[in-house]
Amino acid sequence: MKVFKFGGASVKNAEAVCNIADISRQYAEEELLIVVSAMGKTTNALELLAKAYYNNDEETRTKLFNEIKAFHDDVIKNLLKDPLSHTYDDIENLFIELDCELESLPEGSYDCIYDQIVSYGEIFSSRIISAFLNESGIRNRWMDARNFIITDNTYREGKVDWKTTESLIGNKLRPIIKKQMVITQGFIGKSKDNHTITLGREGSDYTAAIFAFGLKADSVTIWKDVAGVMNADPKKFADAIKLNALSYPKAIEMAYYGATIIHPKTIQPLQSKNIPLYVKSFVNPSEKGTVVGVSKQMDEHIPTFISKSNQLLISISSKDFSFIVEDNLSNIFLVFARNKVKINLMQNSAISFSVCIDNEDEKTDKMLSELELDYNIKTNSELQLLTITNHTEELLKQLSDGRKLYIEQKTRNTLQLVLG
Ligand code: ASP
Ligand code: MG
Repeated sequence: MKVFKFGGASVKNAEAVCNIADISRQYAEEELLIVVSAMGKTTNALELLAKAYYNNDEETRTKLFNEIKAFHDDVIKNLLKDPLSHTYDDIENLFIELDCELESLPEGSYDCIYDQIVSYGEIFSSRIISAFLNESGIRNRWMDARNFIITDNTYREGKVDWKTTESLIGNKLRPIIKKQMVITQGFIGKSKDNHTITLGREGSDYTAAIFAFGLKADSVTIWKDVAGVMNADPKKFADAIKLNALSYPKAIEMAYYGATIIHPKTIQPLQSKNIPLYVKSFVNPSEKGTVVGVSKQMDEHIPTFISKSNQLLISISSKDFSFIVEDNLSNIFLVFARNKVKINLMQNSAISFSVCIDNEDEKTDKMLSELELDYNIKTNSELQLLTITNHTEELLKQLSDGRKLYIEQKTRNTLQLVLG
């Protein structure tokens, strides 16, 4: 049994969706689950729509709704040749459902509203793709991922209830896939009280891993618009090369520190069941791509450079001359956890504690104002966090030459620099 995941770029328009048909046709004899993301930039547009709805900004709301609808209508028109296909009605009905939801007054937290609205992107795309594949002779069944992926109530970053999820996928979904190809959605799950919960931006890779875990799949393939995992972002590093094989820990580290090609949460569920992950190009499906996990010949010796921009360095010191040790540290960590701010790097000394985080304006401002109640805070913004493995002194010089170095941290294999 295999799990395929097609992300936003691989379903960004009718032409891209045709690639899915070509690829899944080749695997039509296999037991296959296909996980799809929202089309193109739909999730970004739905985020804006959720915000406009929450702020009672009717003009923006209507404009965005119409744009999202027109985009999908256009894709359907280009894909579905049968003018009587019930998919036209299905999608129309989904838009009516969303439109009616938007007519009611916003109720509950912004994060809850966000999940109820933004999740439509994956429902639209999966409906359209499933219908198109069926029309193209690739028989498949559409299924709602929310039946199987059960989470807690953390809106926008649902925590998976692994036991329930694994048993639902194994007992209910597996037998269906054994009979027929199934198309489902990435990014979404459901809480026990039946609310839609999203798994965090770019979470469809994670969905594929959750399903593979529950299905005990033979492999997961993430189909991308690039050849595989590169050792650096080719837009930033001219000499970037493709990595053929990576270990699970290396892939986790690369994803965690900003290689956007795989969602960081994807690897561990796969690693726990030894399921290989392939990253392949949907444009050139016969090319090898990258394999994570099982290969005997790993590319571990090749230097990798992961860059995260828009970093904020926060230096925290006490107002009452106390040292920054256990008591203060646990207070500080609580403030970070309460605000759901993730720390990319940290360093402490007797009198100060420094952390580097992604600068996410509103969230960050709120957290800083809480910290400022008890601590003196200094910040530096617009920094870059570079995470490098297998570095050489020469490379290091090349990367940091002429730039202000704020923090340098070395472990046995990894070097991290915070640069201005
Ligand atoms: N559509 C969601 C997003 O763009 C999930 C995903 O693409 O993986 O964040
Ligand atoms: Mg996406």
